[in-house]
Amino acid sequence: HIYTAERKPEARIPYISSSWFPSSSLSKCLLYGKVAIITGAASGIGEAAARLFASNGATVVVADIQDELGTRVAASIGLGRCSYRRCDVTREEEVEATVDYVVRTHGRLDVMLSNAGVLGPLASVLNVDLGEMDHVMAVNLRGAAAAVKHAARAMVAKGTRGSIICTGSVTACQGGLGPVAYTASKHALVGLVSAAAGELGLHGIRVNCVSPFGVATPLACGYHGRSPEQVEESSCAAANLKGVVLKAHHVAEAALFLASEQSAFISGHNLVIDGGTTVVNSCFRMM
Ligand code: NAD
Repeated sequence: HIYTAERKPEARIPYISSSWFPSSSLSKCLLYGKVAIITGAASGIGEAAARLFASNGATVVVADIQDELGTRVAASIGLGRCSYRRCDVTREEEVEATVDYVVRTHGRLDVMLSNAGVLGPLASVLNVDLGEMDHVMAVNLRGAAAAVKHAARAMVAKGTRGSIICTGSVTACQGGLGPVAYTASKHALVGLVSAAAGELGLHGIRVNCVSPFGVATPLACGYHGRSPEQVEESSCAAANLKGVVLKAHHVAEAALFLASEQSAFISGHNLVIDGGTTVVNSCFRMM
């Protein structure tokens, strides 16, 4: 819907336009009729996004390498609305096969949330193992590149004005927030998103990033073997914004916004979900 300033709000209300109502009143239908693939959706942020996308009307394909967990997540969301497909993002042919399967089965692909990621070892730059760094890059960067490439090809082929979202990280914005290989992979991911957004705008395809601060998922708990409570405690202590504990669903909500028409003119953006932490240097505080 395109509304002009001269139309009165009262005239809009009966039409329940998404241009007029805040997202909360339409939170059940933002992806009505859309088909989405979410990589790394057997757990953590991807799982939260799969649940939220499906509850907003999307048909969701959970793509992961944890078969048992992924199958359970899909079944708990509801067969018919969600299915599991094994897809190791380090293998381009598996990413391509997953996209082909989705287009064959559901007729189209509207949303790709490239979310699969690994933290990798906590080595310092002084003794980083380049073989291990290759694996981090293979999942976090090459895996995302394969997801962007094959999703975009399917969207272009069908003339779909789709949305591609990559899960970045606050480590894409600043050094010192994670291990060197992980930080490098997430910086490069933002470059991939900018480049892809630049090319795909011509086809009406948007490409964006969501970049969260610390969330208590298996990935973050693997960092020094901490409990979810310890992860949340240290995230809260380090965060600029107080009084909110960052959860996977907050990141999923940002991804939902970028997947939906609510962000119809947003592309090439890195939506940082960190309560302002990476833009604040707290050495000077007024209070
Ligand atoms: P998670 O471990 O719960 O989820 C990651 C998922 O990716 C797992 O299900 C895992 O099986 C899957 N995966 C790993 N390698 C894969 C591969 N080769 N192919 C397909 N799937 C693979 O962790 P999470 O925190 O939910 O991570 C999701 C994304 O969020 C990652 O990209 C991560 O870098 C990013 N992130 C997480 C945090 C955090 O604090 N948790 C912060 C910033 C960014």
